[in-house]
This record gives sequence, structure tokens and C-alpha cells, in this order.
Amino acid sequence: MRGLTAGMNVDTQHNAVVPPIYLSTNYGFDGLEGRPPIDYSRGGNPTRNQLGEALATLEGGAGGTITSSGMSAITLLVEALVPIGGHVIAPHDCYGGTWRLLDTWAGTGRLTVDWVDETDLSALGAALTTCEDGPVHTDLVWIETPSNPLLRITDIATVSRLAHAQGAAVVADNTFCSPLLQRPLEFGADFVTASDTKFINGHSDVIGGSVVSATAEGAEKIKYLANVIGVTASPFDSWLTLRGLRTLDARLRVHAENTGRIVEMLTGHPAVTAVHWPGLPDHPGHRLAQKQQDGPGSLLSFELDGGIDAVRRFLDGLRGFTLAESLGGVESLVCHPFTMTHAAMSERAKADAGVTESMIRMSVGIEPAEDLLACLHEALERAGGIS
Ligand SMILES: *Cc1c(COP(=O)(O)O)cnc(C)c1O
Repeated sequence: MRGLTAGMNVDTQHNAVVPPIYLSTNYGFDGLEGRPPIDYSRGGNPTRNQLGEALATLEGGAGGTITSSGMSAITLLVEALVPIGGHVIAPHDCYGGTWRLLDTWAGTGRLTVDWVDETDLSALGAALTTCEDGPVHTDLVWIETPSNPLLRITDIATVSRLAHAQGAAVVADNTFCSPLLQRPLEFGADFVTASDTKFINGHSDVIGGSVVSATAEGAEKIKYLANVIGVTASPFDSWLTLRGLRTLDARLRVHAENTGRIVEMLTGHPAVTAVHWPGLPDHPGHRLAQKQQDGPGSLLSFELDGGIDAVRRFLDGLRGFTLAESLGGVESLVCHPFTMTHAAMSERAKADAGVTESMIRMSVGIEPAEDLLACLHEALERAGGIS
């Protein structure tokens, strides 16, 4: 938990409890030989560095780089780890933006990508190629666990072992858990990335991302390239995110309490045909989640009886939950992955990933549970009314 208070009570000038924000873009040299440790804010900034150190501490890594968005963190990692024409294995049900980035680059010849159900280890083994198999060997295995929107759980330790045996690097997208619920580096991943837009900032007012590296060499490489490409975050966004991080532990405890109660209602309701949440004993990834996570998290999806018409009735007049993309903020959200977060995926890709028209994804917020339950009850009665 040390990382949650990173940067507090360290100001020597005024004894400020909360760290000041450094907006300056440049820093003076002390003569020709006197380059300051930080000279220009694209490469380094005291406020942004504090956030990087905080996240590296929480993830148990050697160093952290803070980027302007989750997508720029992903771009940075692919640039760092995949040569031109290189091979990437990514989950078939990964975040829509990751899918679009890799699909776009596959289209331009920048890289080749295989979409694999990484919960199926034999499928993963078949997709991994080594130098002996031909001119291309796998450079990068991308993990995202739990997945979106079905909350499938990928075995980070086993996938990392298989990937490393073939010489591929492993990145885990830890957006859904945050380091308080899951630390992929402990299970063998080389890098962990997150959209800090979600739980880490937690207040839905900053777009940001991060990369934490297992080794000092990895951290140095990422830091160097982030400056080269120019994807680092602004000081103000970093300061806000650091402020949000202070309450991550407290927020997660309320998220967890509310989610447990909502899942209980959903699983018992006749309008609901399926609930996908790793905390449920019948979820296929339940035991694995217990092994590698410190809690099942507050993202879930469920399916309504009656397809898209039931979804419309559920959403029409819904109170308490905003229909919006994104997740991990203090406010409760629902979204319809088929037409919203996963709309960029082809029909085929959606079918393979199990994204159906009758599915609703929920990001449970930290409002009073009784209010959320009352609003949900109302919407489910409406959804189930006509079938
Ligand atoms: C939101 C998200 C991203 C992208 O992050 P942005 O901050 O929106 O660029 C990447 N991965 C996952 C799992 C996400 O939920």
C-alpha cells in the first residue's frame, strides 16, 4: 500500500502535505556540464515521475512510465517489443481499442497478429511460433485478464511460461483489476500496462495510461521510447491521477461490496439468463481468479431473456446507471458492448468473442447499494415485462 501515499509529505520547501504540481516544461542547466536530472517535461517531469514511481511500487516493478492514454501505452509497448513484420498473439476478446490498433497495423503490414482464446492453452501453443518454424517467431504475447466483456480469466503464470519458452515477451493489461487486485509481474509477465482512465484515477476526468516493467532494463527502454515517440502524460493529468490513486483501496472496497449485492440480485432474477462474473463459483475462471486475483472485481456482464428488445426495455428509463462506455469510475455505468465498446469488431470477431446482442456490461460504482438495487430492480421488471 506504500504506493498509495507516494509523494506525500516530501516537500522540503514548504512542508506541503500534498505534493505540488510542476507545470514547467523546461529546467535550467547549471553550466554546459550541468545538465539537470530533468531537463524537458516530455522526457521527465517531477509530478509525472511521482505517479510512475507510485504505480511501479504497487505493481512490484522496477519502473513506471505514465502516458497520455491507455492506447498510447499500448502503442508504446508494441513499438518497443515488436519489430517491423513481427508476430503478436492477442486475446480474441481483448479491449476493442487494442483489437483496432493491432488490426490496423496488421492491415498496413506493420505486424502480423493471431487472435487466440488464451484460456485454451493448446490453442495458444499452436499459435506460438519459433525461429525454427519459419522466418517469423512470436515477439509478443498480449494478455488481458479478466477479459471484456465476458470476464474470462487467463492463467498469467502458464501463458508467461509458454511464451518465454519460445522467446516471446509478455504484456498484461491490468486495467480491470488495478495492482490492488492483481499483480501480473508476480506471475511472470514482463510488463504490465493499464488504462489509468479507469480504476487508477477512478473519477472519470482524466484519460491516461501506464507501463510498469519487471526489470530495470525494460523500464529504461520504455522511458526512452516514450520520450522519443512523445506519448508521455501532462503534469496536470498526472497530478489528478495521483490524487485519485490515494483512494483506490477505499474505493475498491465499496465497489466490491456493491458488486456482491448486485450479482446476488441478477442471478436470482427471472429476466436474466446469464451472469458473467469471476466471483461466481460456476464461472469457468472462478478458481484461477481466486489464485491470481485478490478479489473478483466490480465489472460484470449479464444477458437478458428476449434479446435486443429486452435490452431496449431495460435501458429505456433506466435510473442510477449511466449508459456510457468506460468503466472503473465512482459512478455506476452500463453499456451494450455489441453496439458500443465492441462495435469496431467485425461480426465474426464479436461472435468468436461471445459478444451477443442481449448482453449488458456493468461497471458498478460506489453509490449507496440500496439506491442501485432499487433502480436495477425497476429496469429488470421492465425488461422482463414483455417476452
Ligand atoms: C479503456 C481501456 C484501454 C484503453 O485506454 P484509454 O485510456 O481509453 O486509451 C485499454 N485496455 C482496457 C482493458 C481498457 O478498458
